[in-house]
This record gives sequence, structure tokens and C-alpha cells, in this order.
Amino acid sequence: MSVATDDLGGVREILKRKEADLIRTLQKREGISIERSADQMDEIQYASERDLAIGNVDRESTLLRDVKAAVRRMHDGSFGDCIECEVPISPKRLAAVPWASRCIKCQESADRDGRAAGSMDDGEIGASVA
Ligand SMILES: [Zn+2]
Repeated sequence: MSVATDDLGGVREILKRKEADLIRTLQKREGISIERSADQMDEIQYASERDLAIGNVDRESTLLRDVKAAVRRMHDGSFGDCIECEVPISPKRLAAVPWASRCIKCQESADRDGRAAGSMDDGEIGASVA
């Protein structure tokens, strides 16, 4: 645990703001409009816009979960440690990604596993890694 208490207060603020931000964004997106058009070109356009929006929601939901988990870890005192190998996450990485739950090495292998699994359905990728 190498994060100073002072820094932690700042990080907590950042996480709280990020959390509120994401919740707002996600609420706004809740009504992704399913537009229909007789024009096939329009249909294709709408479909790709929809896919894009859904992709964003997926990413934002995942991010929100990460942020919430980081806030939780802050409460139980494990914040700043990798959830996989329990090695302290580098301060540089935490400064860039305060909600990072894994060190670079574990994150990279989790990303690899996630892609290999190929299932993007429920966003639970990597959550069940033993
Ligand atoms: Zn690790």
C-alpha cells in the first residue's frame, strides 16, 4: 500500500465525481432510440449508430462497475493493490486510472483472456478469473 493518505482523499474525490458522471451519462442513454426508416441506407446508418451507442453503454457500465469497486476497496483498505496478485499498483498507473483494479501485468493478461473468450454479452469478462 504505497498511496499516501493525502492522495487518497483526492482520488476518492475523483472516483466519486467519475461515478456521478457515469451514472448521469448512462441515465441519459437509457432511452437509446430504435429508429426505423423505409430507406435502407438510413436503416444501415441507424443500425450502426445504435451499435455504437450500445458499445458506449457497455463500456460505461463496465467503467462504472470498476469505479464503484475502487470506492469499495478504498473503504476496506485494499485500494491500490492488484486484485489478482496483490502487488501494489504503480502510483503512475493509479494517477492515470484511479479505478484500476489490476497491475499492468494482470490487466494485460485479463484483457487477453477477455478477448479470447469472445463473449461481450454481460460485461462479466474477467470477473470470474480464479
Ligand atoms: Zn497483478
